[in-house]
Amino acid sequence: MSKNEEKNIQDIINHLKVSGFVYQNSEIYGGLINTWDYGPLSTNMMTAIKKYWVREFISREGNYQIDSKIIMNPKIWKASGHIDNFADYLIENKVNQKRYRADHIVKDLFPEINVEKATFEELENIIKEKVKQYDNEKCEWTSIRPFNLMFKTQMGAIDSTAAQTYLRPETAQGIFVNFKNVSRTTRAKLPFGIGQIGKSFRNEITPRDFIFRTREFEQMELEFFCEPEDSEKFYYYWIDKCKKFVELLGLKNSNIRIRPHEKEELSHYSLGTSDIEYLFPFGWGELLGIANRGNYDLSQHMKYSQESLEYLKDDGSKIIPFVIEPSIGLDRLLLALLIDAYEVEKLEKDDERIVLKTDYNISPYQLAVFPLVKKLEEPAKNIYDKLLKTTDIRVIYDKTGSIGKRYRRQDAIGTPFAITVDFQTLEDQTVTIRNRDTMEQERISVDEVEKYLEKFVK
Ligand code: ATP
Repeated sequence: MSKNEEKNIQDIINHLKVSGFVYQNSEIYGGLINTWDYGPLSTNMMTAIKKYWVREFISREGNYQIDSKIIMNPKIWKASGHIDNFADYLIENKVNQKRYRADHIVKDLFPEINVEKATFEELENIIKEKVKQYDNEKCEWTSIRPFNLMFKTQMGAIDSTAAQTYLRPETAQGIFVNFKNVSRTTRAKLPFGIGQIGKSFRNEITPRDFIFRTREFEQMELEFFCEPEDSEKFYYYWIDKCKKFVELLGLKNSNIRIRPHEKEELSHYSLGTSDIEYLFPFGWGELLGIANRGNYDLSQHMKYSQESLEYLKDDGSKIIPFVIEPSIGLDRLLLALLIDAYEVEKLEKDDERIVLKTDYNISPYQLAVFPLVKKLEEPAKNIYDKLLKTTDIRVIYDKTGSIGKRYRRQDAIGTPFAITVDFQTLEDQTVTIRNRDTMEQERISVDEVEKYLEKFVK
């Protein structure tokens, strides 16, 4: 098992592109900068991850899931603070007009400086005084200015600022503005959570590190409403739950850490924020965040909408609930899971294999079916069809190339098991089943395949 620091991110990216996990977006038109599409393999994985999120954050907790819109009333973004404050520090190199996030430059060149704590004046001074060359080019810097990350768009056929709307930069606000609807129609009692999965958009100044930071991405967010005095307890509960969740999906404990934000880093309304970080080959990076947001969001929406979003307690008193928000980025989680799973293993006779040791439950395919030779295609296809139609196992059929080649191909896309139909199958209805990780094979009856795999279901 190799360490993440030793893994080469470019090798992993190449592998993911070549094997069909990720495609360049708009490829036949020359692409669109830093924008990626997901192929069938990633899509299968993401569907499985979302299923687990729904199970762990919604169903098993008795929470509620909704699906609000990407474009909402623009007043929402005024109330939430995004119009005024959702900005990164932009700095431009006057020599070539290239624009950067000031904190990224400082983080890259002076890793000893804690950029999360630095003010924009401090960042500007450091860059202007010390950075004379960046990105292999001579530099002369402008002043720093805030750059709002929200994508603007227009609604309807009118081309005026009056019709200006935004693509949501997070799914959370769609939950806050539906708080009253959900609590009224479900009659839920505190504490309870409302979650949603959906696309969010941020006009990042410098999207980078492959799918780690992109302008369109997917989030899985839960807003967990509770009484103010319980908020600290639930804050720690959800931190623990998030850690267990990423471990359930297979991330190695040694590559994960919890990083509580220091006071200077916290948003003015936050009573506590912790990130779960992952050790990417390019360094520790935020995978997801958990925040105790107090009653800031509901209070803001009450103020701007003039609607009461108070909660009526059984004793007749009214409160504005506090909220704990575990917010997970699906694309980053996918990247972390793929990096974690990626191994190049030395085999006998100078041979090697690329193997993705993904957890059975989120693997793109869980089982491959091979006919040993062409003559056995029909019985193999019949087994494949039966598994497809009568089980939930994600099965793939492969008949091309030698068996050895087919094993390598499945190893490379993370298929944990493969069964091979041979001549003995015709006599006694048994097949060999081969384990991706141990490469060991055993013989089992065709009828036992489903039961055999059930052991790995979490
Ligand atoms: P960062 O500091 O990396 O920009 P953030 O603190 O702004 O992230 P949040 O607003 O807390 O991020 O968003 C919650 C989660 O959404 C993040 O933990 C991350 O997984 C995901 N996310 C945020 N921005 C992006 C992006 N541009 N591309 C992919 N995922 C993202």
